[in-house]
Amino acid sequence: MKTLELLRKAVEGKLDRGEEGLGYVHPSTLAQGCLLAAGHELLRHPRAEPEARRRRIMQAGTLSHERIMGYLRPFIVARELPFLEPELRIKGRCDALLYIPPEAGVEEPGFYALEVKTTSSVGFAEVRGQGAPKPEHLRQCLLYQRGLRNFYGVPVRGGIVYYENRDTLEYQLFAVEYDEGELAGILEKLPRVISLAREGKLPEGEEYRLPADHWAHRYCPYLPLCPYGQEAVANAKGEIPPAVKARIIAERIVRKELKNPRKGRHRPRSLEELAREFGWE
Ligand code: SF4
Repeated sequence: MKTLELLRKAVEGKLDRGEEGLGYVHPSTLAQGCLLAAGHELLRHPRAEPEARRRRIMQAGTLSHERIMGYLRPFIVARELPFLEPELRIKGRCDALLYIPPEAGVEEPGFYALEVKTTSSVGFAEVRGQGAPKPEHLRQCLLYQRGLRNFYGVPVRGGIVYYENRDTLEYQLFAVEYDEGELAGILEKLPRVISLAREGKLPEGEEYRLPADHWAHRYCPYLPLCPYGQEAVANAKGEIPPAVKARIIAERIVRKELKNPRKGRHRPRSLEELAREFGWE
């Protein structure tokens, strides 16, 4: 097909979009290591909104990214670089691609994939104490490197993880060498998760989930849909965030409604309809 023909198809809305129903997995989801969450993402299940405080933290993180990019501007080739791995249905954006020229006098000039993380004092002390990025951030940085290499053919030499303490603005840089082995555990299971998603199913079995004592269940956007995560959170100390609790209740009401034919409804109400009915809007 000629280029103009392809572009004409795009203009006329006739592009072949492949498997429209199936979603993509974000590198951050995959890096967390829960393949069940990846399954939810592929099936485009609704994500729970983060509670207001967490949303504010994320907004503050986004603003900090802007500032941090300013410090590194002399070496930034591109920011928010999208990439796609069609076979593994991974779709993401690398925070930035850096290029350190040989004239800079460093031992290892070349291209680097940058990942920026802002964190609390506790989180910052943890990575500083460990002398390494958190495992999920390390994997995310590796997925960026892999994505940029495969999608653009850029000979990425390695990755950099930049941590900033959002309380004190101290920072810490880590170099991340590419190591396919670190990703092997999740990438080997992903094709099975994709083929299940094509049948509309989620993966079952402990090997696809995070261990029960993992901290990440609490913040997982699929927690309202996930009995394993809910049990893990209930058994852990502390409360489930209120926004997640509300969503769990709403999901249960919807499910009950499905099972109760006496109500004469053949269609479960959507969460939006429920929210309107209960005056939550
Ligand atoms: S709640 Fe936990 S087990 Fe369930 S999808 Fe999320 S991370 Fe995985």
